[in-house]
Order: sequence, then C-alpha cells, then structure tokens
Amino acid sequence: MGRLANIPEIHAKSILIALCADDSVLERRALNLLKQIAAFESQVATKNYQKGTKRKAQSAVMICVQCQSPFHEEDNDDKACRYHDGLLNVDYESDIWADHDENCHGPIDTDENRFQHPEGFVWDCCDKLGHRSGCTRGRHNALSGSRGRYGDTPGTGLLEDEESSTEDEASESDSDKSQDD
Ligand SMILES: [Zn+2]
Ligand SMILES: [Zn+2]
Repeated sequence: MGRLANIPEIHAKSILIALCADDSVLERRALNLLKQIAAFESQVATKNYQKGTKRKAQSAVMICVQCQSPFHEEDNDDKACRYHDGLLNVDYESDIWADHDENCHGPIDTDENRFQHPEGFVWDCCDKLGHRSGCTRGRHNALSGSRGRYGDTPGTGLLEDEESSTEDEASESDSDKSQDD
C-alpha cells in the first residue's frame, strides 16, 4: 500500500483504467468514489461561500482507506473517521440469501456481493450488519491500512453522516432489533 502512495499520478491513472477494464465491480467502485469526491468538493465550496471565507492553502482531497470517505488533511482529527476495525463475513442466515443457490448463482462470499448486498454480511468487530456505520472512531487514513476496506457502505458514508454525526452508535444498533417488535 505504501508503494502505491508514491507512484506518479500519470501512472496511477493508467493503472486504474487497466484494472477497471476487466473488472466491472472495481469500475463501479471507482466511479462511486469519484462521485463522492465531487459531492464533497461542492459541499466544502458551499460551506466556505456561506462563511464568506476562502481557504488559503487547501490540500488535495484524499480518500480514507478505512471509511472510503473523502477528506482534507487539515480537517483530520482523532474523531474524524468512523469505520469497522474488523472483517466483513457472510451472514448465511440472512434472508437475502434465502433463494441463493451457490451452485447456480455462484458463490456468496465475493467482493461483488459485499458491494451490492452489504446487508447480507456481518462485521466481526461488532456484529453489526455490513451496511451499518462504523463502530470505531479515529483519524482518517489515506496512505495505509490493511483493514476496513468496506468501512462504510459506498455512497452513504459521507452525506448521511453529516446530519447524524452525534455520538449515536449505541442507539443506532438498538434500532435494528426494536423493529422486530
Ligand atoms: Zn464494527
Ligand atoms: Zn475515514
């Protein structure tokens, strides 16, 4: 991961295109991140405009490997990131897989399914379903990190959290169960 952080930008682009050419899931994930960056940048621009301030030296937008959210390093702090510090395992009991026959539909335990049906997976760090927000807080990390690849459901990490960014982890996981009543 460290070596990738140092490759020339022009190579990064070629490599990304080559990798995505034969992997449609990867391509969708890359385009999803691009959309998130665009949304993030316009959000920041709106905020700065409303405050009437212009940032002097705004760093480049980074993407956190833990939560997959865009961020600026100058806004990074010990509570900026919310992610799962564990592995995302298949929940074979989930209703999602009720009609899934691995012999004809293919294996369940794939990255494509993690991306498309996160609710059919469970985090081993907190037993939350795959699409629930992270159980751990820390700094955003753009350079390294072998875990938390799916720290948040792609596309929901950034915007949704903006409104409910209070310390509501506990109440959130409780609401999973109370719906059964
Ligand atoms: Zn977790
Ligand atoms: Zn993060």
